[in-house]
Amino acid sequence: MTPHLHQLFPDLTGTVPHIALGTSPTPVRRLSALDTTGAELWVKDDSVFGAGGWGGNKVRKLEWLLPDALRLGRRTIVTVGGLGTNWGLATALYGREHGLKTVLALVDQPVDDHVRGQLERLRASGAELHFTHTKARTILAAPVILARNFSGRRPPYLLPAGGSSPVGALGYVEAALELAAQIRAGELPEPSHIVTAVGSGGTVAGLSLGMRLAGLPTRVVGVVVNDTLRLDEPTLTRLADRTARLLRDRGARLPENVSPTGNLDIVTDWIGPGYGYPTPEAATAQTLSADLEQLNLEPVYTAKAMAALLDMNARGRFGPGPVVFLNTNGPR
Ligand SMILES: *Cc1c(COP(=O)(O)O)cnc(C)c1O
Repeated sequence: MTPHLHQLFPDLTGTVPHIALGTSPTPVRRLSALDTTGAELWVKDDSVFGAGGWGGNKVRKLEWLLPDALRLGRRTIVTVGGLGTNWGLATALYGREHGLKTVLALVDQPVDDHVRGQLERLRASGAELHFTHTKARTILAAPVILARNFSGRRPPYLLPAGGSSPVGALGYVEAALELAAQIRAGELPEPSHIVTAVGSGGTVAGLSLGMRLAGLPTRVVGVVVNDTLRLDEPTLTRLADRTARLLRDRGARLPENVSPTGNLDIVTDWIGPGYGYPTPEAATAQTLSADLEQLNLEPVYTAKAMAALLDMNARGRFGPGPVVFLNTNGPR
């Protein structure tokens, strides 16, 4: 199917290539058991986006990033993540299918069973792993890692943590346009808010731009779960603006008034002791979601986002809603 982004801006068809890696649209459903206080709750379930049982929000970004790397003739992707990086694993697995090698610099994060499992999967993925431990040592090691991964004179395709470059954010511009089409088709009511986790920001930045391109007044509520990156509202708005500029530079005729923002709310009270550390509120939200709604969350991102949503809803912060929870967690 033609992506919504190409339907809206046909000029991008040749300049911003897309490779379908998942099945869309992802389903939306009501969460009736969780919305006993406050607004009507819904979920858009991106856990089922992807192939071969491997899904989640990183796959949506790779639909635009992999063809961008191939368009530039790159052979290798170099990127960074924590020891349990979903992003690094998705890049390694989907990149390999498209002839791209992945090189990962891994920084330390709290190690639990989930992270141990991820590390095993990373080792089996064919990615080249560099254990750089800290951000400072990653920066020191970067020139050597980059120099070793030239393919002839072609440099590697360098990506920030989480794939949150403007090209990566297009995955969630597309997802927002997809949600708008589901609203038009009557699958769900127009939401007042959409709530999701912020790990590196590409997801909320893409949603923020996509909602505005779709003409929806929905506010995007980003629940920050990562304290190792700068993820404040101006920084994330800048990423949304850079994404809009990319589309203009590649030939899209965006309405002039689309850049001025103001639809992004950033919430920072739910990180707990830090990125990857469990919190009791998140553990409760994870249990409630599984027991009441058969919604499978994980402790690093989605359970913290759901904890924020439930608390804000109980305090009436969403008014009558409706509120959409974007589930970014895929099965591994
Ligand atoms: C990476 C990730 C996020 C955060 O998305 P960003 O675009 O990096 O902010 C949320 N949930 C899960 C499960 C993730 O792996």
